[in-house]
Amino acid sequence: MTSLPLVFDAPKRGMPPKHFADLDAQGRIDAVAELGLPKFRANQLAKHYFARLTADVDEMTDLPAGKRDEVGEKLFPTLMTPVRHISCDDDSTRKTLWRLHDGTLLESVLMRYPERNTLCISSQAGCGMACPFCATGQGGLDRNLSTGEIVDQVRAAARALRDGEVGEPGRLSNIVFMGMGEPLANYKRVVDAVRKITSPAPDGFGISARSVTVSTVGLAPAIRRLADEGLSVTLAVSLHTPDDELRDTLVPVNNRWSVSEVLEAARYYADQTGRRVSIEYALIRDVNDQPWRADLLGRKLRAALGSLVHVNLIPLNPTPGSEWDASPKPVEAEFVRRVREHGVSCTVRDTRGQEIAAACGQLAAEEK
Ligand code: SAH
Repeated sequence: MTSLPLVFDAPKRGMPPKHFADLDAQGRIDAVAELGLPKFRANQLAKHYFARLTADVDEMTDLPAGKRDEVGEKLFPTLMTPVRHISCDDDSTRKTLWRLHDGTLLESVLMRYPERNTLCISSQAGCGMACPFCATGQGGLDRNLSTGEIVDQVRAAARALRDGEVGEPGRLSNIVFMGMGEPLANYKRVVDAVRKITSPAPDGFGISARSVTVSTVGLAPAIRRLADEGLSVTLAVSLHTPDDELRDTLVPVNNRWSVSEVLEAARYYADQTGRRVSIEYALIRDVNDQPWRADLLGRKLRAALGSLVHVNLIPLNPTPGSEWDASPKPVEAEFVRRVREHGVSCTVRDTRGQEIAAACGQLAAEEK
């Protein structure tokens, strides 16, 4: 029996074709000019994409009928196709697995709360940071996402919310870069995407920068660079432990930028932007949940950031095959109490999506 190549007609892994969402204002004007269209069409297309949330030229009925197909082909190639939607928490959480043009998989998760609707998006397919408790980290990096692929996750979710596909019709209010990937390792595209998420229509979706959170393992130079961009996004730093010895294994990039270097960069971010920095801390039973670590965390954060810091404790969402587990509730409560004793604000994150494998990268890992 002859065997077929495994990936018979799968396209080559790589960046998608150029998309409207990759372009800046001048790029959009140039692109329509190339198609022989007048300048005002650029603005019209931006309204369709960013305000009406459509990337389907058949819905753009004010475009000349004879040009629609060409515009679709050249400017709105399909970036992602849904593979599956999975809902839980009484349908207030919906996770979507997307397939990209080259077969790469990525995830985004929409979470509805009484006073906000938050989308958790991916910045890379896979991740190269290799944190041992994270499902995405186990699979390695497939590739960076393009600006368009980041932005289109937002458009798709905003549209689904608006159209009542995820409960009552609503508006997308918050974005967290806490899906797959290390956003600051795909720096330029992430910053470009942030600008498109926060710019008012028709240049962007008009989501408040304060409601956008960029979460990082702590690439110190990139944190400083982000501080100088003039964006007021919330910075979240995945610290997970206050000491270098353990952090070298939990967040391997700590071998390059230590806890103190990361906290200094976070301080710079807070000073430049006036924004309080979030510290992410996944509580792992008997690994990083000891009372002395809570004290050390409180002390270091107070010294480095004063009151410009908030600790988010995340009960570990165990990945399949891992021996690690979340901390018992009394241990967690004691941890919170001790951190607060140092004058550092600290809360436990409401965990969503436990039963839909919503911890970073789990759905894509299952599909593979
Ligand atoms: N690479 C970025 C953003 C993606 S992960 C970062 O590390 O910050 C978003 C958050 O989820 C990070 O704080 C990450 O450490 C955490 N996380 C990953 N896997 C987890 C798990 N199994 N349980 C709890 N938190 C997890």
